[in-house]
Parts: sequence; C-alpha cells; structure tokens
Amino acid sequence: MKRNNTLLAVTIAASLAWSASSCNNDTNTLPVATEVCDGVSTLEIDSVTTLITLRDNATPSAQPNSLFYGKDNKDSAKVEELSPVGSVPSSIHAFLVKKDNKLALFDTGNGSAKGGMLITRLDSVGFGPENIDYIILTHMHGDHIGGLLDGDSAVFSRATVYVPQVEFQYWETQSNSNGKLAMKTKEVYGDRMRLFSFTDTTALPLGIRAMAAIGHTPGHTVYGVSDFRLLIIGDLMHGYDLQRQDMNISPAYDVNPEQAADARKFFFNFASNKHCIVAGMHLPGNGVLVEVK
Ligand SMILES: [Zn+2]
Repeated sequence: MKRNNTLLAVTIAASLAWSASSCNNDTNTLPVATEVCDGVSTLEIDSVTTLITLRDNATPSAQPNSLFYGKDNKDSAKVEELSPVGSVPSSIHAFLVKKDNKLALFDTGNGSAKGGMLITRLDSVGFGPENIDYIILTHMHGDHIGGLLDGDSAVFSRATVYVPQVEFQYWETQSNSNGKLAMKTKEVYGDRMRLFSFTDTTALPLGIRAMAAIGHTPGHTVYGVSDFRLLIIGDLMHGYDLQRQDMNISPAYDVNPEQAADARKFFFNFASNKHCIVAGMHLPGNGVLVEVK
C-alpha cells in the first residue's frame, strides 16, 4: 500500500523533536478524574490546564464485534476470540481544554439533531457554545463535526475552527454525505475555519501541537497539549478493549487500515514512553487513560 511519505516524515520528525520533553514524569501521582455529573468529568492536567470530558452519547455506547472483522471478514475469528461478549465499549466524546482563560474544544460529536448531548454537557459545567474560543478537529467524520451545525447555522458563534488542511482537501474530493457535510460546514463558518499545515508549528493557539496520524482518514490528527502532558488521539481507537489486545485490528471506519494500525502503534508507544495522559474520542468510560502501559 502506498504510503504518504511526507506525512510520515513529519510525524517522525515531530516525535524526535519532542522526544526530549516528557508528558508526565511523575508516575507516582497519576491524576484522578472527578465526575461532575453523568457524562462529564474534569481532570487537572497541570497547574494551569484543566481537561473536561464531555460524552456526546446520552448513555455509554458500544460497537458490535462485526465492525472489526476487516476486509473480507479476515479477522472475524480473532475478534470473536478476543471479544467473547460480542460487542466493545465505544462512546463518543468531545474534550474541552481550559487554559489561560480560554476554552478549546476538541471535536463536536454528532450534533443535537442526531441526539448528540454536547451542548447539554457544556451547559452542565456552566458554558454555552458562545463561550468557546477555539474548536480543533481531529478529522471531519460526522461524529466529530456534526455538532458544528444546527441546520444551516453555526452552533458556535465566536469560535475559530482549526482543521488540518490535508483532511479538508480529502473531503473536498468526496461527493458522499460526509463530504457534503464537511463542505457545508466550511461554507457556514467561512473565514472562521482555518486550515493549517502540519509543518506550521505555530498554527494553533495555547501552544497546542498537531501531529499527523493518518490512516483513519487521510488527515487524521493527534494533538499535544501542555508539552504533550495530554495527548488527544482522535479515532486511533474505536474499540479499546479489543484493539489494545491486537493493534492490527481495525474498524471498518478506518480509510486505510494498514496506516491506521501503524499510527495506533506509534502513538500508543509514544504515550507509554512519555507517560502521557491520553484522551480518545471513542475510548471507554470518560474517554481518558491516565496511564498507557
Ligand atoms: Zn469517530
């Protein structure tokens, strides 16, 4: 399978550049999430940074084993063996980072029209959509950008929306419903949607850094917050309980399963070595792993 050498090089260069920094050296004092209410928890990342987890599903959700069977069902026997209960916990989360009196929201869930609870969850911690300063997208699948629109209107009245340029360019070429949603979102947000290149290390606010994690989609992106103490991994995992047992297992949603598996292994290794706190949009529970082993 042809590999995007440019993006891979960026990823490797980025990892080398940051190898000197550590995410969380003090593993004896792992942070503890505090549940604020159903579907919402808070976690102190450092003295000036708070992570707020926002579950978009009304209740915790799961994916059927069959989502992970792979091309021509090649992995069906393995998946059934590793996941005998028949399904894998997999909710949808968005993450709010509060830092320097600014609010950065990572992804937006499905949107209220499809039952998304993001706005309700934000309200439960005292914020309205007008309070959000920045929205940073891991990729442009509907369960991540659906919450940006209410019909033909922008849900977030002030926020600047950051999108990896290569991700946007991919959806420009897709005429399916997801491609149409991505283009409509750009039309509605206009100049408030900023496309950034992975090579522009100052593109994002609050010192947030982007790293190419291609595979799930051609512009799928992982973000480092607070010197990578927090790693927001988007859709590297759709069924953690299953995929942590074999990272080659991919859900049908991965556009390029081989690249997705490579990215999964790379970033879980990265997070383990650097003791990052990991937040994933489809991880179980509140979406956070305070420690990756
Ligand atoms: Zn997703």
